Amino acid sequence: MSDNKKIIMEVSNLKKHFNVGKNAVLKAVDDVSFIIREGETLGLVGESGCGKTTCGRTAIGMYNKTEGQVLYKGKDVHSLKGKEKKAFSKEVQIIFQDPYASLNPRMTVSDIIAEGIDIHGLVANSKERIEKVNELLSLVGLNKEHASRFVHEFSGGQRQRIGIARALAVEPNFIMCDEPISALDVSIQAQVVNLLIKLQREMGLTYLFIAHDLSMVKHISDRVAVMYLGTMAELTTSGELYKNPLHPYTQALLSAIPIPDPKIERTRKRIMLEGDVPSPINPPEGCRFRGRCKYAKDICKEQRPILKEVAPGHFVACHLY
Ligand code: SF4
Repeated sequence: MSDNKKIIMEVSNLKKHFNVGKNAVLKAVDDVSFIIREGETLGLVGESGCGKTTCGRTAIGMYNKTEGQVLYKGKDVHSLKGKEKKAFSKEVQIIFQDPYASLNPRMTVSDIIAEGIDIHGLVANSKERIEKVNELLSLVGLNKEHASRFVHEFSGGQRQRIGIARALAVEPNFIMCDEPISALDVSIQAQVVNLLIKLQREMGLTYLFIAHDLSMVKHISDRVAVMYLGTMAELTTSGELYKNPLHPYTQALLSAIPIPDPKIERTRKRIMLEGDVPSPINPPEGCRFRGRCKYAKDICKEQRPILKEVAPGHFVACHLY
């Protein structure tokens, strides 16, 4: 991915906090910054509860922000109104984690896919609507006989293909893929990821790809951002992250991925992380990873590490660097 490509989304110091009762604030996203270039896939990864989904949803305006700014094509996502808001809701789509829950069981596949087409008035008549739905079904590896069926008649992988067709129906530029493969069998995950890669190439789509599985993220992402407890731990190109992870948290996450070659797999040293991700309600001062980090020093207790560029395009938030 070339650095000359235009920036499509710019997230600056984004915070999303939730008040959860007596003086308790859940800091789901706490000062996160990144950019996404046109046609790029940015993977956003971390354990469950790290704030990645909240970050993605706030970035595309599904949630109000607490602080910070998100620009999409130079416009502030959280202040869009009227026509601009409608245009944004067409350009930016979501593929949800759970194809079982995100598709209406009482609607035919055709009506599910065409919902956005109808809202945005993208076809002139019912003949065009049928043609458009059939074209979308074929694009995602389904066929026109599927159009009149209901979601319960499909497998998990096929349902996710329907979800992808629904997102593509309004000809978006940007898709937030919100853990789109987590609910699928491992054997199906690669098929869905390969379909997303193919569609991106054909249609010039930009993806924010949220996942906790680093192995699939490597396959699809140009760059990867690793989140920990509402903060950004590391951000770099996919190749660099897997070759040269710098943050102790990234190193531990990567060490957990099995290696397909049995000889190398036997030599893999797994870094065991002790404890769980602490609660994002009133999180610890200093580095939020310090309770689980074997390199923690005094400064880690006192100062929150900021995300610094330590090599071209390689950012890390850790006092070791
Ligand atoms: Fe570990 Fe300190 Fe780096 Fe945090 S800042 S990851 S505690 S060494």
